[in-house]
Amino acid sequence: DLVPPPFKSKLHGKVAIVTGGASGIGEATARHFINHGARAVVIADVLDEKGRNVAVSICSDRCAYIHCDVSDEDQVKSLVELTVSKYGRLDIMFSNAGIPSSDGQTVLDMDMSKLDKVYAINARGMAACVKHAARAMKEGGVRGRIICTASVLATRGFWASTDYVMAKHAVVGLVRSASLQLAGDGIRVNSVSPGMVGTPLTMMRWGLKDEEEMEKMVEKFSMLKGMLREKHVADAVTFLASDESEFVTGLDLAVDGGFIARQ
Ligand code: NAD
Repeated sequence: DLVPPPFKSKLHGKVAIVTGGASGIGEATARHFINHGARAVVIADVLDEKGRNVAVSICSDRCAYIHCDVSDEDQVKSLVELTVSKYGRLDIMFSNAGIPSSDGQTVLDMDMSKLDKVYAINARGMAACVKHAARAMKEGGVRGRIICTASVLATRGFWASTDYVMAKHAVVGLVRSASLQLAGDGIRVNSVSPGMVGTPLTMMRWGLKDEEEMEKMVEKFSMLKGMLREKHVADAVTFLASDESEFVTGLDLAVDGGFIARQ
């Protein structure tokens, strides 16, 4: 007789942090982590009310919210310390918090203080999350998994948004270097690079009037038909956070419907 193998969910028992978890890709991924068996997910964001509500709506028993501005290293350090002291360990860091380009600027009209702001969150903030997560994993003897959110604009130029493109290129550099430096401790570091995701924010940013208009717009940035959604990115992050990607490190995984391949 065939006996079914014992079922074990992909993230069984894992403890995770998701930065930028109050909304969009972060929120969808936090939900995915819980659905795939994570023991605890800490949502870190600057939108406190939204973050708390999201944590409760996902799972009030296994989800918590902690305020953390990732551009402030001390806040990142205490986010990791609080997580480890509450749950005993840190297995997964999804460093995802990010902001869009300050105003779509080209190199000719770049405002350096706006560049600093985008950089502080999208590049330096990512570095602080990788640093403190890796330290906690190493100290705890945890073979952790760190995933950063880059972008399809992390590996190509663009006609605008120079500050954003620069900061996202830095994320891929961070991931490649950190993956080499942490491999000896069994800690894997990868990134995901979403193409244009069909979110309410995308609709707002591009002044689109409804889902149909957004679908047409998003499809221009993809070779596959249909809309790239947060769920598709969350699937890729969950893969990189699980044992299914046991031998994958230093990778930038594009979730872009073939956008990069078309270049
Ligand atoms: P979103 O605005 O819905 O989510 C971003 C979250 O980050 C928000 O909850 C926001 O409050 C939080 N955040 C902003 N600044 C922060 C800070 N200093 N500290 C902590 N949290 C902060 O946007 P999203 O589309 O879900 O974006 C998530 C990530 O995906 C970002 O890094 C973004 O650059 C990247 N990305 C998005 C797309 C897209 O089309 N939506 C494409 C490529 C890459």
